[in-house]
Amino acid sequence: MYSVGFFRYLNLQPLSIHSIYIFIEPSIMQLIIQNLNKTYSNGVQALKNVNLTINQGMFGLLGPNGAGKSSLMRTIATLQEADSGSITMGDIDVLKQKEDVRKMLGYLPQEFGVYPKIDAITLLDHLAVLKGIRHKNERKGLVEALLHKTNLWPARNKNLGGFSGGMKQRFGIAQALIANPKLIIVDEPTAGLDPAERNRFLNLLSEIGENTIVILSTHIVEDVKELCTDMAIINKGEVLYNGSPMDAIAEVEGKVWKKRISKTELEQYRTSFNIISERLIAGRPEITVLSDSQPDPSFEQTQADLEDVYFTHVFGTSKEVAA
Ligand code: ADP
Repeated sequence: MYSVGFFRYLNLQPLSIHSIYIFIEPSIMQLIIQNLNKTYSNGVQALKNVNLTINQGMFGLLGPNGAGKSSLMRTIATLQEADSGSITMGDIDVLKQKEDVRKMLGYLPQEFGVYPKIDAITLLDHLAVLKGIRHKNERKGLVEALLHKTNLWPARNKNLGGFSGGMKQRFGIAQALIANPKLIIVDEPTAGLDPAERNRFLNLLSEIGENTIVILSTHIVEDVKELCTDMAIINKGEVLYNGSPMDAIAEVEGKVWKKRISKTELEQYRTSFNIISERLIAGRPEITVLSDSQPDPSFEQTQADLEDVYFTHVFGTSKEVAA
């Protein structure tokens, strides 16, 4: 027989009626952020009238360093105060009912400490005790299920000090899932992971996103493209785009042009065209330009992707072009 902890982990609520279990789907919640503002004491306005509605599933918060992502994540996670605005999740007022938020939140910050001399299964069991799961068998079932889910079962007896970056991140998710959270926030989780670890980690997040709100904050466009059904682009504290990655791409489709040029031409092209990105291919610059029509016959049209949208919003003049 499965333990109650096992069903909690599956996000189902067991009701026992003469040993027959009935499972009720938990109600679907939305996280609603309205007119949120934050200015730090040094005068930096980190959040400027942020409005977002976040549904169950994977939500990508994309923006360059310094955009305000961590400020927003920390505010939702009740770790810092906003100056004005509101955040609600279901009937919970996130900015006021901090204890209620913490009970349903799993937060994985950019950097988190682990106890290097304790093995994974012992630490997870200990953290489960701290989260109030006192029944030994229930805890055992839950800890084992989480180690399997995060693919750490083979490494369960290894000290955390010997874990790779990706294994530590997966352990972070395992501990975040102990309390069966309804909201999971992961801040820049893939920075520094090798491609195999990154894939494993992103697959794990997308599984979790099936019955939870998962907010993935990142500056890596690929993370959002591969995983998220909904997204926002944020820069200098402002939401510049909110919608699906597909709709975002449709916004610039047919307007993206590429050309390979020589290094000496770069300055001239920068002044004449609306360049949204430049990259070196085999030592020669390739420029990407956003334009309603072919900038000149030497440019080739290319299929738009999310990176073009991102660069357009963050560095380009999308409002003029996309209008
Ligand atoms: P991101 O997570 O997108 O890199 P942050 O939210 O960390 O962005 O930072 C947004 C802006 O606020 C940056 O200009 C940053 O320097 C500033 N900032 C962040 N935290 C503080 C703080 N505690 N005090 C003052 N300024 C801060």
